[in-house]
Amino acid sequence: MARCCLRKQRRAGSVAAEMRGRFAPSPTGHLHLGNLRTALVAWLFARSAGSEFVLRFEDLDPVVVRPEFYDSQRRDLERLGLDWDGELRQHEHRERYDAVLDDLEQRGLTYPCFCSRREIREAAAAPHGDLPEGAYPGTCRGLTQAQRAARVADGAPSSIRLRAGDAVCRFVDGLAGPSEGRVDDLILARADGVAAYNLVVVVDDAFQGVEQVVRGDDLLSSTPRQLHLADTLGYPRPAHAHVPLVLGPDRRRLAKRHGAVTLDDRVALGESPRAVLGLLAASLGLAGQGEQPAAAELVARFAPSALPREPWVF
Ligand code: GLU
Repeated sequence: MARCCLRKQRRAGSVAAEMRGRFAPSPTGHLHLGNLRTALVAWLFARSAGSEFVLRFEDLDPVVVRPEFYDSQRRDLERLGLDWDGELRQHEHRERYDAVLDDLEQRGLTYPCFCSRREIREAAAAPHGDLPEGAYPGTCRGLTQAQRAARVADGAPSSIRLRAGDAVCRFVDGLAGPSEGRVDDLILARADGVAAYNLVVVVDDAFQGVEQVVRGDDLLSSTPRQLHLADTLGYPRPAHAHVPLVLGPDRRRLAKRHGAVTLDDRVALGESPRAVLGLLAASLGLAGQGEQPAAAELVARFAPSALPREPWVF
């Protein structure tokens, strides 16, 4: 990719602070209106600040990635009028994640975890002081070398976890406001060897020079983990803005079962991509009902402070 480079240092005193933004879909299906709305908001944050915007395909999991969805996702973004300055596919950069993992291992900041999914679920369900719900309580943290060797000899698969050291991470989210969370010993590499999302997202945001992460608020609770990891790796922290999700009429997260939720679905119903953009813009308070402004017109209207702070029920 053209723009895949280390973060440019912002010049002290420079007037136009550059805030490179990004959209990071997984090519596992068609983007639905919720994904497209988040992409639109991320693009508007970047373009209204005169910033670059990059696309990143989070495609490390060969089990769920489908090759046809790279083009389908790119095409849908283009049909809405969104553009980008560079593109990265994570599966082409595995050595980068391995190198970071090695570095953390060398620093004594990792340990193998032999817990099964069920053990993790059960352990996470039990109360553990002030750890957030679903957090890993550190079951395998204190295993001795002999205990580890015995598990390996039994053929138990192991993932790799970070020693987070009970860190607490505070940050101010551009939409959710002041936030904080205890950081658990998050997974860095899965038992099947695939580098974990929380690692690669941090590595690539730094590698791509992303200074502003705009994404769905289902990831707000993962942000303390990611910021802690960025701190540990000596990367600058990006700013965050978590966009409330789009819900179906049953108030559950928008999904295929809710009907015509992709751009193709809407076009098949006779709506133009421009009309769909208008619908998304209206849901963000950027257009009147039925109005069909172009993406470029929305840039001029965009003000982060005026964005809705509640989910949009579609
Ligand atoms: N790939 C994630 C998703 O499609 C987004 C990750 C991120 O924006 O950090 O939900």
